[in-house]
Amino acid sequence: MSFTNLSLAEPLARAVAEMGYEQMTPIQAQAIPVVLTGKDVMGAAQTGTGKTAAFSLPLLQRMLKHENASTSPARHPVRALVLLPTRELADQVAQQVKLYAKYTNLRSAVVFGGIDMKPQTAELKRGVEVLVATPGRLLDHIEAKNAVLNQVEYVVLDEADRMLDIGFLPDLQRILSYLPKQRTTLLFSATFSPEIKRLANSYLQDPVTIEVARPNEAASTVEQRFFSVSDDEKRHALKQIVRQRGLKQAFVFVNSKLGCARLARSLEREGMNTTALHGDKSQDERLKALAAFKAGEVDLLVATDVAARGLDIKDVPAVFNFDVPFNAEDYVHRIGRTGRAGQSGLAVTFVSGSDARLIGDIEKLLKRKIELEAIEFDEDKPKGRINDGRRAWREAGEVGDPRDVLDAPRERAPRPQREYRAPAAPRDPFFDQPYQAPATEAAPAWEAGAKPAASRVSSNIKPKRKVAALFKAE
Ligand code: AMP
Repeated sequence: MSFTNLSLAEPLARAVAEMGYEQMTPIQAQAIPVVLTGKDVMGAAQTGTGKTAAFSLPLLQRMLKHENASTSPARHPVRALVLLPTRELADQVAQQVKLYAKYTNLRSAVVFGGIDMKPQTAELKRGVEVLVATPGRLLDHIEAKNAVLNQVEYVVLDEADRMLDIGFLPDLQRILSYLPKQRTTLLFSATFSPEIKRLANSYLQDPVTIEVARPNEAASTVEQRFFSVSDDEKRHALKQIVRQRGLKQAFVFVNSKLGCARLARSLEREGMNTTALHGDKSQDERLKALAAFKAGEVDLLVATDVAARGLDIKDVPAVFNFDVPFNAEDYVHRIGRTGRAGQSGLAVTFVSGSDARLIGDIEKLLKRKIELEAIEFDEDKPKGRINDGRRAWREAGEVGDPRDVLDAPRERAPRPQREYRAPAAPRDPFFDQPYQAPATEAAPAWEAGAKPAASRVSSNIKPKRKVAALFKAE
């Protein structure tokens, strides 16, 4: 469907034409007419589907009635609020909104954390109709009375699932409490997890649900996430994600036999039903481990690539790359074990400081940029961190918990040469059966697709400082 079929106001139509858009993307074709009616929308769509235009264009169109050329800030109250989980996404959306609004007198601005508040404050004080923001920084501005939201007519919760992952729910609820009850709410999320549905039920009124196929169906059933963590934090991150996602079972891949055995032991000790599968295990032990996993008696199967290579287990709810694999091909192999037809799987990769080259290899293979995300730990912080955001590196010789010395996956296996290829394990008919979820298994807590490639980020965003980023997502 062409944009010319929409009765967009001339300034918006001109901007769209200038962008070179002709046909609407599926989410635009479905969402724009609905948003133009002022109804609430719950949209399943990711970055890359054209969803920014899908909500911005109709929203701008509906706000044109407020357009004015006055210089008085009072004539430019915030009328539309767009919330996003990260500064990169906020910046990207704000840039697009500016382009769509460029032939109107509607003003837009973006506020996110990690940079000086003063220029943002000055912009807010001049008055803006469309405010794009990350939740934490927006609350700072609300508290400083720089942003007044009592005339907001539209609120967009974009990438809502990621906002919940990052732990923004309390912030979101506070922000929403500042908005008028009479408003239109648009919620976009890659997944319609129970948490998202709860959020939608509390804040949306009679929403129209819109769902579109993902741009790349082949890879789309696996939601791929890459988290930047230190080696010491990986176990904690794993447990937190398992808990937050309500995961019943998962594969955990490590790079070495030693690391495999140690990780399985330590997870077991921390109360997770875990078994290890590595090259030193006998065939009998492997069979038992796998049977226990398939029967649901074991929650986590910690495995090396070599041991797992001969196992044709598919459709496991989630795969963790506890270590980034040495071979990019192994990455694809590992994540191929998750993702059921019609339902998505989750593939989480923990990336530590020394993994840059390996991630580069995966990027080359996938032909896309990988976006590393910070992880915000819940109150039960991993050892080695202190509250002021700086790492408390243990001094050499300092006495710590002896189990840390044994279990922390600190010693990485030596890097193999580039030509390293894991030996192919013999195929075993027993393993050539698809994974069967145990009968009691509840539906997985997520329902959809691959995460988008990294966004283009403007030059006003400096690269995140790694340590600080671990504590604050925006
Ligand atoms: P988004 O999913 O909103 O981040 O958009 C992804 C990219 O698609 C952006 O670079 C947009 O400029 C572009 N885009 C959005 N809508 C269209 C369209 N109808 N035709 C061509 N490109 C589009």
